[in-house]
Amino acid sequence: MSQIAFGRASGWKEAQLTYIVNESCIKCKYMDCVEVCPVDCFYEGENMLVIHPDECIDCGVCEPECPVDAIKPDTEPGLEKWLEINTQYAEVWPNITVKRDPPPDAKDWEGKPDKANLFSQNPGCGD
Ligand code: SF4
Ligand code: SF4
Repeated sequence: MSQIAFGRASGWKEAQLTYIVNESCIKCKYMDCVEVCPVDCFYEGENMLVIHPDECIDCGVCEPECPVDAIKPDTEPGLEKWLEINTQYAEVWPNITVKRDPPPDAKDWEGKPDKANLFSQNPGCGD
């Protein structure tokens, strides 16, 4: 996680910055993102990946690689829940750095709304 200091009239405040994976990844899990990350900070669940916020260096390289636009900077509004999920599950799921085949029905789940209730807490295989 990189840090940035914001100047304010009253002093300086440090904010933690990271990218996170959101619900668009659920059941798609194309894994194009894992091979470009310079610090290997993706972790694999049964049906989605997460980013470890403390390891992400906020480079942004992975964001355009995701075919379903599931990777976002946590500065975007409304992502608090997904920042929590990324933080929590990156601690317990296995690291993944090599792309495998996506789920056979990944295309069927692209762009589907309300996938959050399909989130699985189970770990994936990792590398
Ligand atoms: S590229 Fe996108 S859909 Fe594929 S695993 Fe990464 S975040 Fe998920
Ligand atoms: S922003 Fe950079 S460091 Fe963070 S997960 Fe993406 S590729 Fe890795």
